[in-house]
Amino acid sequence: MTLSLTDRVGRLNDVLVSVNLLNWDARVMMPKGGAETRGHQIATLMGIAREMILDPEMGKAAEAALNGDAPEIARRAAQAVQEARVHHARIPAALLRRQAEQSITAGAAWTEARRTGDFALFQPHLQNIVDLAREKAQALGYDGHPYDPMAGVFEPGATAAQLTRFFDQLGDGIRPILDVALARPAPRSDFLFRDYPIAGQQAFCGYIAEALGYDMDRGRLDTAVHPFEISMTRNDVRITSRWNPNYLPMSIFGTIHEAGHALYEMGADPSLTRGAHATDMIGLYAVAGTSFGMHESQSRLLENHIGRSPAFWAVHYGRLRDTFPEQLGDVSEEEFVAAINRVSPGLTRVEADELTYDLHVMLRVKIEMALMDGSLKVADVPEAWNAAMRENLGLEVPDNSAGCLQDVHWSHGYIGSFPTYTVGNSTAAQIMAYLDATQPAVRAGVTAGDYAPLHGALGDLIWQHGRSRSRAEILAGIGAGAYDPTAYLAYLRDKFAG
Ligand code: ZN
Repeated sequence: MTLSLTDRVGRLNDVLVSVNLLNWDARVMMPKGGAETRGHQIATLMGIAREMILDPEMGKAAEAALNGDAPEIARRAAQAVQEARVHHARIPAALLRRQAEQSITAGAAWTEARRTGDFALFQPHLQNIVDLAREKAQALGYDGHPYDPMAGVFEPGATAAQLTRFFDQLGDGIRPILDVALARPAPRSDFLFRDYPIAGQQAFCGYIAEALGYDMDRGRLDTAVHPFEISMTRNDVRITSRWNPNYLPMSIFGTIHEAGHALYEMGADPSLTRGAHATDMIGLYAVAGTSFGMHESQSRLLENHIGRSPAFWAVHYGRLRDTFPEQLGDVSEEEFVAAINRVSPGLTRVEADELTYDLHVMLRVKIEMALMDGSLKVADVPEAWNAAMRENLGLEVPDNSAGCLQDVHWSHGYIGSFPTYTVGNSTAAQIMAYLDATQPAVRAGVTAGDYAPLHGALGDLIWQHGRSRSRAEILAGIGAGAYDPTAYLAYLRDKFAG
């Protein structure tokens, strides 16, 4: 059947959007009993997606698109198809099969190991995951370090060399800021841990998401244990949050974070729908964001640069206090803003404050790189982890549950995704510094509770382009480097040690 490249990619996108919907359902609605059959359903569709990319007819269609005098954006789409074909062709089917088998047992083993703190239960699985990752890196090929192709799946073009420089510079910059921040008296934060009925939290989070421009006609806010955002094209972009009745910031900043991801997907140009610039054909994921790092920059920008700013709460604190009059009756706006920005080093990444968060990421990235190049043995991960926690954060890890078993990523077989969290933080600061320098209407809008100028600026610069421009290209366009933490460090210094 002769189909155009547009038709073929559109069908591929349909399959991957269906996977997104099955995943959303699995994490939000599905009863526990559906897990096994759902796993088969998703695996089948992923297999079909891979076959569609590797179909020789897809290759011919891409070649034809490149031979004509197509506009640049269509040429780029065809090139993205070809790159994905090369990528998937290099990974042997047997390796994929072993990876799929591995992922079935690793999750349960990790859950049990984490519950008991017994690393030995997870160790053989992690060994297998690392072995498979090293095999995959060999199959994909690399010039520098075996970590390069692993990180590259999440952040195209990322290399261990760039990431090492980036994290070293960042770590050296953060530690003195942390010393200054910790020498200051801690603000009052007792009120964050009071009783906050979940219904009130849900009402406020729905309000705040909409206030920030999240369109409920094209989205919905649900509950999930591990909050996430996922899109079924730009007109159906769903977010989730979680509700802790005794810790208010979790739901508020979780919701703002996911709304930031969602605005990116909702802001893709309508012409990109079902196209290559709204499809990650290497990661096999229907998404309009150009990379995981760029995606995270949009969530962090909204969560930290806007959502934790005094100007933001000058507009919204009254509403929050009206929602929780008893809990916040004795709390001033200034006290609230100080509490949500307090620095308090802890053992857990997902609960870390803004200043210490990247130190958590850094230690994971170093461990992953060392596992990939063989300089660290899987058996020595707990020791390496605990030593890094001591060195980076001055904390003793009491058990592996609070240490190297805390994240789900490795059990899913993901190696190489952690850097994108910090790349996102850094990119957010670079973009915000640029907007502050060139578009004062953005900050003025935030002060007035009007986020239209922010949407306009981010839409022009980032959202509308989908995957047609890389993160590095977008940053180059504003005179910023893809792995330059200078702007981020300046922001952290100003905020926490200024
Ligand atoms: Zn995120």
